[in-house]
Amino acid sequence: MFSKHVSKELSAYCHGEVSTEQARLIAEHLIGCSRCRTNFEEIKLGVKLAEHLPQISAPDSLWLDLQTTLAAGIATNERPARQPARFSFKVWRPGFAGVAAGLLIVAGLAALWVYRRESRPFWQVARLDGAPRIGSWRMTDKGRLAVGQWLETDAASRAQIEVGSIGEVNIDPNTRVRLVETKPTEHRLELAKGKMSARIWAPPRLFFVDTPAGVAADLGCAYTLEVDDHGVGLLHVTSGWVALELKDRESMVPAGATCATRPGIGPGTPYFDDASENFRKALASFDFEPGSRVPNLEVILNQARPRDTLTLWHLLSRVEGNDRALVYERMTALVTPPDGVTREGVLQLNEQMLQSWRDELEKAWTGNGSRLQKKWIKFWGNAIDPANDKEGKR
Ligand SMILES: [Zn+2]
Repeated sequence: MFSKHVSKELSAYCHGEVSTEQARLIAEHLIGCSRCRTNFEEIKLGVKLAEHLPQISAPDSLWLDLQTTLAAGIATNERPARQPARFSFKVWRPGFAGVAAGLLIVAGLAALWVYRRESRPFWQVARLDGAPRIGSWRMTDKGRLAVGQWLETDAASRAQIEVGSIGEVNIDPNTRVRLVETKPTEHRLELAKGKMSARIWAPPRLFFVDTPAGVAADLGCAYTLEVDDHGVGLLHVTSGWVALELKDRESMVPAGATCATRPGIGPGTPYFDDASENFRKALASFDFEPGSRVPNLEVILNQARPRDTLTLWHLLSRVEGNDRALVYERMTALVTPPDGVTREGVLQLNEQMLQSWRDELEKAWTGNGSRLQKKWIKFWGNAIDPANDKEGKR
């Protein structure tokens, strides 16, 4: 990996101007170095802003002028002034020249369209089982999934997608995914139905999966994501963190935790897989069956262990009034809040206090202090050396 900082390479990296191998090394450095990551976020923002500058189309009058000029040019050059009348071809009348110029332009635009279509960015796909389809084409061993194309597996097929230089996604049977976007500042898949597992080794918020009930944003991790025929989603994280978002509702899901999501409602409250069955059942009803919140909240609070403050922390901003006070009290009984976090502040959802309490709670959630980085190192072998950059620790 890069032992030096990568600030100088970041612009080229963001514009996709480095080799695959270099991109991988830069991504690895970014995971471990907060200083370069800050630079990267700034450059990424700049690139995104530039992309949103409006593209202004040339006015129609310009095309007309161009056609007229071309037509006149052809007509002037070819006008058989000194030629005897019998050699003058009818076809070179200005009217025809205009049509010819128009056809040339159309042919040029068509060629450009074909070229653009062929040069669309793509991801490599490998067949694992059966015969997955890309569009209407049945894959043999390898294939290309271009932006806009669907990859579909039937009951007997599976596939693996290489996500640019930043990770890989396994596609289970009976699954439909589409490549929405791939560029150095954003990689995006759409999961319409079925199940996929992703392993991503990129800086946070570069890889997204759209589902009918929310977007999974990668924060450096490995996870599985399922969508059933009704658009109901289930996210399970095996390493690192994933944010599950719909509009202004967000659930932060760490390794060992799961979060369900429903169309029209968005992500439910995340919970650890080893929480009690009663806890999980009560939470599912609480999240998705309006009208049964009070008795379920009681069960959730009674059954919560220190680790389940993951769920309670999310509930703070999802309940109101006395319920919020009950959640707060149960949380303080399980884990003492750090200095500076007050009852009054938490009940008013003071952002800074919620954040600083969350930082403290993460020790109980992930089982260690340095969180993400250690998990990444464990997951991806010795790709990152923490001694390389002390600032890398968040
Ligand atoms: Zn650095």
